[in-house]
Amino acid sequence: MSNCIFCNIASGIIPAQKLYEDEEILAFQDVSPQGPVHFLVIPKKHIPNIMELEVTDTLLIGRMLHKAQALAQEQGCAEKGARFVINCKSHGGQTVDHLHIHVIGGRPLGWPPG
Ligand code: 5GP
Ligand code: ZN
Repeated sequence: MSNCIFCNIASGIIPAQKLYEDEEILAFQDVSPQGPVHFLVIPKKHIPNIMELEVTDTLLIGRMLHKAQALAQEQGCAEKGARFVINCKSHGGQTVDHLHIHVIGGRPLGWPPG
């Protein structure tokens, strides 16, 4: 989608600090990090949010989660952990309507969210 920020990052039109890329998925640093570690993992294809995920996307979302885990480990989060978050629509606090997994770590995080 031409007006989607993350589609434009996936196609290279908008620059981002990429951590990983293959044919299907992309991981990049969040522009407004909420901790020492904060990156996003997205599918390259435009899926608006997790409510729109199809059963045919199960391998894709599994690969995204596994890549999120591997990159979190690379960034030093293996021992103390991190927060793996998918915000969805307005009540979930989603601000970019292209499915993404946040990985936030490097500091203790509070729970529950406000
Ligand atoms: P959401 O609130 O939708 O779960 O999270 C969207 C995230 O995307 C936010 O953490 C925000 O900082 C990040 N973000 C928004 N625009 C950009 C951008 O242009 N580049 C990057 N790297 N991150 C962005
Ligand atoms: Zn998109």
